[in-house]
Amino acid sequence: MTSKNIKILTQLLNLEGVKVVSHHQYKGIGVILKIESIKTESICPRCGTKSNRLHQNHRYTIKDLPLGEQEVFLEINKRQFKCEKCKKPFTEKLDFVDRRRKYTKRLANKIIQQVIDSDIHSVAKKGYVTTAIYRENVKRCIKKLIGRKTIILKKTWYR
Ligand SMILES: [Zn+2]
Repeated sequence: MTSKNIKILTQLLNLEGVKVVSHHQYKGIGVILKIESIKTESICPRCGTKSNRLHQNHRYTIKDLPLGEQEVFLEINKRQFKCEKCKKPFTEKLDFVDRRRKYTKRLANKIIQQVIDSDIHSVAKKGYVTTAIYRENVKRCIKKLIGRKTIILKKTWYR
């Protein structure tokens, strides 16, 4: 990919701290953008020391907001660095995705916004995410609002 294309795609993606390194289009699936953190180092959460000693790469794919009518997936690398001081590895924190989530924060926010704007039935029809992802976020949102630990959703809310 030319450096001009990389620049355009990075601008279109508009995610802070990352750049697009390659893209693949799959008919009927969508676009997969391989992205990379601009930073070459990360801060150890134990002692606060900066480290650029790469320990391990951990690549996986998450879902992002669609681009027009196309689904967008991001192939990310959550790197592990080794702290020189603690002698232990730690995982870098990526601002745009929550731990153990398979979708970006901005996608989750969009879903929640859609719940507020309409109802679960019409959002599910739009097909941005599966009902499971949907339910997970609705629950999280309601938990925040009412502070209860267990939430049972009424079936009519998402069917
Ligand atoms: Zn450390």
